[in-house]
Amino acid sequence: PVMVEPMTAAAARPATDALLTVRDLHGWYGESHVLHGMSFDVRQGEVVTLVGRNGAGKTTTMLALMGMLSKRAGSVRFAGRETIGLPARQIARAGIAIVPEERGIFASLSVEENLMLPPQIRPGGLTREQIFDLFPNLRERLSSQGTKLSGGEQQMLAIARVLRTGARLILMDEPTEGLAPVIVQQIGRTIARLKEQGFTIVLVEQNFRFAASVADRHHVVEQGRVVDHIANDELEQNLDKLHAYLGV
Ligand code: ATP
Repeated sequence: PVMVEPMTAAAARPATDALLTVRDLHGWYGESHVLHGMSFDVRQGEVVTLVGRNGAGKTTTMLALMGMLSKRAGSVRFAGRETIGLPARQIARAGIAIVPEERGIFASLSVEENLMLPPQIRPGGLTREQIFDLFPNLRERLSSQGTKLSGGEQQMLAIARVLRTGARLILMDEPTEGLAPVIVQQIGRTIARLKEQGFTIVLVEQNFRFAASVADRHHVVEQGRVVDHIANDELEQNLDKLHAYLGV
């Protein structure tokens, strides 16, 4: 049998300790105060979602975790280190990466060039072979131009790109948006494999059925705060509450 090496040292640690601890996080776009004291944890090796209505502050939370807002305050501890005062590039170097909603694939570059674009920031990133094992389509499309890819392939490339860097907390903003069901399933399987390999994932997701199929826990966001936490295995009992939060 093939022995699978842990991808990062963190993979060997028990899944119970918090990799990310957010306390009383506030965030601003210029003068506009959007996050109003967010608190939540993400454990090492966990897949969690941020769920909530449009405009609740889910994307803004991800930008705040990355240090990409004009101002933030409170506490964001990552791997035992306070990051609230750090600039975005140092937070990235500490090992947090974002797969943005718009995917950020450069149209004029090939798949290979897009893949190799972000620098490796830490040891422990996936090798090319490991990436092609996860995303076989990308190997076949290596010399294709970014624009020639389907939406699903672009999303795979956007995910693959950050896995090379050595980041171990991956933030994904609506990765299934606009994709066909068969591609959504493929992304679900990819997330499950990344979890097995020790990655920790925070997901913003509108497709609740998909979210329930991949996540361990859901943090409910309302008006710039986390107002509830629902374990995925307690979802059934909490569906009415959740529908009330989401206004559906
Ligand atoms: P959606 O699903 O609509 O993206 P969301 O929960 O991700 O919802 P955010 O995009 O985080 O919501 O938006 C939270 C609030 O911040 C909203 O009121 C939005 O109008 C505001 N906002 C978002 N981007 C900016 C910006 N660049 N400048 C000022 N305000 C913004």
